[in-house]
Amino acid sequence: MIYTANPNAQFNSYKKKIEKSISKVLNSKKYILGNEVKNLEKEFSQYIGTKFAIGVANGTDALELALKALNIGMGDEVITVAHTAVATVSAIKSVGADPVIVDINPDTYTIDYNQIKKNINKKTKAIIPVHIYGQSVEIDKIQKICKQNNIFLIEDVSQAHGAKFKKKKLGSFGDIACFSCYPTKNLGAIGDAGLITTNSNKYYTKIKMLREYGWTDRYISSINGRNSRLDEIQASILRIKLKNLDKDNLRRIKIAKFYNKNLDKNKYSLPLILKNNFHVFHLFVIKTNNRNKLLKYLQSNGVFAGIHYPKPIHLQKAYYKRIKTSSNLKNTEFVCKKILSLPIYPELTILDQKKIVSLLNKF
Ligand SMILES: *Cc1c(COP(=O)(O)O)cnc(C)c1O
Repeated sequence: MIYTANPNAQFNSYKKKIEKSISKVLNSKKYILGNEVKNLEKEFSQYIGTKFAIGVANGTDALELALKALNIGMGDEVITVAHTAVATVSAIKSVGADPVIVDINPDTYTIDYNQIKKNINKKTKAIIPVHIYGQSVEIDKIQKICKQNNIFLIEDVSQAHGAKFKKKKLGSFGDIACFSCYPTKNLGAIGDAGLITTNSNKYYTKIKMLREYGWTDRYISSINGRNSRLDEIQASILRIKLKNLDKDNLRRIKIAKFYNKNLDKNKYSLPLILKNNFHVFHLFVIKTNNRNKLLKYLQSNGVFAGIHYPKPIHLQKAYYKRIKTSSNLKNTEFVCKKILSLPIYPELTILDQKKIVSLLNKF
């Protein structure tokens, strides 16, 4: 059986190191916000190239705490997309703000830059562009539009740990950037985890307070916070994975090259990589007209491909007619019927890659 992602294979790659580090934490007498978290935060901020990083409980919390740190709430609008993990939108809702959904580019699947401007008004407080599948949005243009309109930029980097735009790491462009470290992500824990990066001392301080009851001192809250702490075991695992992230991303890129070279281009539309982008292939997504049949055919041959995502967020029950959408979301609604995520993860063997390509080309 071949799956789209395989966190267990990744665990097996680093099994000895991970087991050793878990045991170290277990015997350390400190299980929450100790040295592992501190060191991870230091190492991750150095890796991304920001002044600060903060460990939190998961990627959804990372987005929610970022919005709260920027005082975004009731009556405010935040521009984002519906072709993303539902968390991007639910985090905006959770702070009481209104998501405003704009369309995507059907070839890169990222936010359509031209749609952003039309949807900015007095209520707009932030944009959350999603670096989907491992590739940067048009971050330079979006950064500019944010500055011109005096609105915040929050990057959702949950699918692009280690990806770059013009040699600069994603997560270093926004006022704040948010990362999920869910087990299947490029930098994945063995459980839930999240990270936030920023260059602002002010946001850093506030997010650190927000993740632990709004405390300034132990037991003394100066603002209304909550609990979104990262635990020591997950942090210690992430430190091991972070040391190997570049190497693991290169393996993903190698698999992507193999797919690109060998898949039948008359049958499948392959990922488009924009000029200045270093794409880290969290997912390798193709488009095809016979998607549902192909999915079943692959399944019957032991290959479990995925769909990211099968239904745009604005059409899901929880949000249908409950969120603001710009008039036309035709690309968002079109691509979800055509897309298929092929298996891609650092440990995917060449034999499996060949099997996948031959099944696809035979279909
Ligand atoms: C995974 C993901 C999230 C949510 O992260 P969790 O850790 O599951 O809360 C948010 N945004 C994007 C783009 C994601 O891929």
